[in-house]
Amino acid sequence: MKITSLPDLARKLPSRERKLFKRIFQVEEVRGKLRVPEALKPWVEEKFGSVSLVEKQRVVKVTNKVTLEAAFFNQLRSRRPVEASGKALESLLEAGECLFCRPETFTAEDVFGRIRGKHGVTAANIAKYDCWHGLVVFTRHNPLGYRREEVLDCLSLAFKWFRQVRKADGKAVFPFLLWNCLWRSGASIVHGHLQIAVSRKVYPKIEYLRRCAARYQAKYRSNYFQDLFKVYRELGLTFKRGSVRVMASLTPVKEKEVILLADKADTRLFEAVYRVFKVYRRLGVSSFNLSLVPPPMASVRGWQGFPVIARMVDRGNLEERTSDMGGMELYAASIIASDPFQLAEELKKTFKAS
Ligand SMILES: [Zn+2]
Repeated sequence: MKITSLPDLARKLPSRERKLFKRIFQVEEVRGKLRVPEALKPWVEEKFGSVSLVEKQRVVKVTNKVTLEAAFFNQLRSRRPVEASGKALESLLEAGECLFCRPETFTAEDVFGRIRGKHGVTAANIAKYDCWHGLVVFTRHNPLGYRREEVLDCLSLAFKWFRQVRKADGKAVFPFLLWNCLWRSGASIVHGHLQIAVSRKVYPKIEYLRRCAARYQAKYRSNYFQDLFKVYRELGLTFKRGSVRVMASLTPVKEKEVILLADKADTRLFEAVYRVFKVYRRLGVSSFNLSLVPPPMASVRGWQGFPVIARMVDRGNLEERTSDMGGMELYAASIIASDPFQLAEELKKTFKAS
């Protein structure tokens, strides 16, 4: 796991970047020690490969001091035994007669009607969490088989919907997009769909990030996101694709988190999102969350220099019954088994090949 060499890598950065790294990140390395009783040794060897690996474990704790996001890495956790449910996955993903297979008949519509694309259509959410809360329902049922044009079409449909809402409600200026893919991500319906919302007030977690960036700007007279990108670039965790910056997160909210920063929410960003989706599929990720936060649709004070931010995160194996989120994630910090450095290599491979 290369994340274990992060303290070394940080020490070897050129002085300017090392300063930025220390300004933004705190890295702590701890050893977890334990004794495995005789009776348990065969089981430990079978599940984890070696007893000594378990008896002395290395944990790397990374904290973003600006945003207070934190992730504790321990690769051993990826080998934990988990209970799998026996439900046949294939049959659930097969195109069938689900409600979303016939959205015009079986989904609600917004007061301004529907917006139709080539590969999807908008709908109103039947149980809203905001006054403007809709869906983009993909035409195709199985979300794991989406092609480039389907993803691009449905993402741009979401932005048409945002603009339509803005026309209908001048005060609704903060758009937000989610793709919860399959049940581990919180999706209640198998059929692929994006959740889209526009609110009059910014969502608190986004506002928190904006305030952190503003505080950073005031203190250091420097743009937080640009500095963050510089540090990531020096560590080899990021690359640029046109104006889109792709980063394998050092403080992932959960496994394999990718952060995309862009100046605009346009086809280039959608294309990059699709590429990450392809990398995920290649790595066997089948359930994930995508969030996309564009800047407000009107000029709002304090939002200058805030980029479009997309984040994608793996939510674990569809056949596992154990949740990927526990009390640590909810109340303390994220516990991570995957390695951002390996993820960065996979991302670079796929982006280069396209
Ligand atoms: Zn369906």
